[in-house]
Amino acid sequence: MENYQNLRFSAISNCLKHHAKRDHIEETNISEYFASNVFNRIAMRQYLSKEAFEILIQAIDGGEKLERKHANQIAIGMKNWAIEKGATHYTHWFQPLNGSTAEKHDAFIEIDKDRNTFENFSGDLLIQQEPDASSFPSGGLRNTFEARGYTAWDPSSPAFIIDETLCIPTVFVSYTGEALDYKTSLLKSQEAINETAVEICQLFDKNVRNVSVSLGLEQEYFVIDSALFYARPDLIQTGRTLMGHTPAKDQQLEDHYFGSIPIKIAAFMKDFETEAYKLGIPLKTRHNEVAPHQFECAPTFEEANLAIDHNQLLMSLMKKIAKQHNLKILFHEKPFAGINGSGKHCNWSLMTNTGKNLLSPGKTPRNNLQFLTFFVCTIKAALKHGYLLMSSIESLSNSLRLGGQEAPPAILSVFLGNTLSNVLDSLENSISETKMTPDEKTDLKLNIVGKIPEIMPDNTDRNRTSPFAFTGNRFEFRAPGSSCNASAPTTVINTAVAQQLKLFKENVDLLISNGIKKDEAIFQTLKKYIKETKDIRFEGNGYSSEWHKEAKERGLKIINSITDAFDAYTSEESKSLFKEFNIFSEKELYARNEILNEEFVKKLQIESRVLGDIAINHIIPTAIKYQNILIENIKGINSIFKDENFQEYSQTQLKILKDISTHINEIRSQTTEMIQARKNANKLDSYLDKAISYNKYVLPFLESIRYHIDKLELEVDDSMWSLPKYREMLLLH
Ligand code: ADP
Ligand code: MG
Repeated sequence: MENYQNLRFSAISNCLKHHAKRDHIEETNISEYFASNVFNRIAMRQYLSKEAFEILIQAIDGGEKLERKHANQIAIGMKNWAIEKGATHYTHWFQPLNGSTAEKHDAFIEIDKDRNTFENFSGDLLIQQEPDASSFPSGGLRNTFEARGYTAWDPSSPAFIIDETLCIPTVFVSYTGEALDYKTSLLKSQEAINETAVEICQLFDKNVRNVSVSLGLEQEYFVIDSALFYARPDLIQTGRTLMGHTPAKDQQLEDHYFGSIPIKIAAFMKDFETEAYKLGIPLKTRHNEVAPHQFECAPTFEEANLAIDHNQLLMSLMKKIAKQHNLKILFHEKPFAGINGSGKHCNWSLMTNTGKNLLSPGKTPRNNLQFLTFFVCTIKAALKHGYLLMSSIESLSNSLRLGGQEAPPAILSVFLGNTLSNVLDSLENSISETKMTPDEKTDLKLNIVGKIPEIMPDNTDRNRTSPFAFTGNRFEFRAPGSSCNASAPTTVINTAVAQQLKLFKENVDLLISNGIKKDEAIFQTLKKYIKETKDIRFEGNGYSSEWHKEAKERGLKIINSITDAFDAYTSEESKSLFKEFNIFSEKELYARNEILNEEFVKKLQIESRVLGDIAINHIIPTAIKYQNILIENIKGINSIFKDENFQEYSQTQLKILKDISTHINEIRSQTTEMIQARKNANKLDSYLDKAISYNKYVLPFLESIRYHIDKLELEVDDSMWSLPKYREMLLLH
């Protein structure tokens, strides 16, 4: 009979039988098939008329609107390309607010009244569709009577083919025009930062016409054997383990990080990389991470919208390919308690159309002054909107990771490194409040600003405990969780920095209008900003408990509870920020807040139900079975030794028996209380109230019930324990 108890052991034996899958690995050079499934500029040139090609490039690079007749020409070219590649279907591909990607396939094939069949695809179908998607999260933006949503083509991200389907990246908005996805606000925020950054660049270089956001997303993940995964109902239903005692050995020997990649995993990596390359995803780095069974991959950075599309695509590709390797990929931020969780580090910078990275110091004092302007404005933005930025990556799963093993705490601070901290300090001290003498100016330019590239930190000047660290030519936001859609934090960074750049320009213009020369106006504004941003700069250990205290003293806003974090979107400050740059309307912000609370409640409800079920159906029955064995044993001892030696010979068994009873009682009574807490919370009207109640009264039970289950795991006969243990899931390669 196959029960869960047997399933654990058969899973272990299946896992040992799963060998590395070695077939299907492309033998050709990557460059030969890179982006072969992407309708990129090479394919466009080949399949579009010269006119259509040029119009499309205008739309991509210059954001120009496409006319319908041109859309038709493009659609035909795209269809011909896709059909030649074997595609039979097409879909609008979008990123709804449930964290995954969505698609609804339609066949190219059409049948006319004479029952002739032909492949068809028109400009109308390319540009806009109306998916029946009323069950995506909308936070109340879509009432049932206007349940329609529209997807609209985003030409800046090229179409691609997966599994015989032409996928067209789109935004997803409601009938009344509100965003129902991540992409819409991201694109708007890119426009905001483009406009403000170009204005600043004009102070330094008249050739700059366009500034785009560059993003490099490092993706961490766990992989475990699928047989073991399927023997854990908690992993199946929640993506994380809700119980499990830490193994004697996990990551303490530090023998996994950067170690040689296990053969089975390497085969999996090669397979998903091959598929990713075909989709034009420029994967560059792969390595073992700190925790056992934890890995990372990172592409070369790209324009942010594309980088995020590629990251979403990569995640779904990895899930799919893992299946073919008898593996299961875990993007949950904290699948295993007590060991490292997984993040998605967002490396963020700004690039000009002239090919300059604005966060990279140049060779001349002028370039460096420009660098300092963007650098200091980003720090200022982090100070002003740090709480919102931190909040934008909060979720039930990421909150389990933040502040834990090797993950930054939920306090935003900025790390600059010694050298740049010194540069800012000396800048502050050498810019005088009164009019500077020509000598002072020359000294400042040559000796401080001019020397930045020479003294720039190399990659060793790093602080991995900082949530927002400058790493030489970009900021690395390390707090986002592995499963998130990076659009949420990127939208916040873009908008916050856009606002700061605008204020900077206003300040400089004001000084200039008061008769101060441009360079000095810039210097004085920088000095003011450097002075004002001291509190957000932190070079010490972000993991230490002293930092929490110090951060509080500095007046940095710390996220105290997850539901407070969700409210950051609807604070007066955030509302005015997003309104100023037309990123989110107030209605959209309240909808986001509602969606975050709703998702939190639903996920926690599922976790709590699963834990309750496993506790009552798996754990307690197993513990009772073991108690029965102990009872038999104790009775036997009693019948042999009678009264005089009974106590002595059965004391261990009696102690275990009692211990187990205590744990069983606790599990049972706490599960009952947890169910009651859920019921109380479910009765509340709004998702906000439910979330507060779930957070306060349900969440703590997940820890405290688990504590007793994990104790039982240590005491109950191993051969009776029904769930694969941490040591099996994490150490069997
Ligand atoms: P580490 O683990 O040392 O932080 P990785 O090599 O794993 O570094 O990842 C660094 C990421 O930062 C890569 O995706 C890389 O392409 C990206 N990156 C490098 N330069 C920039 C830049 N100017 N803008 C955005 N991302 C960048
Ligand atoms: Mg890395």
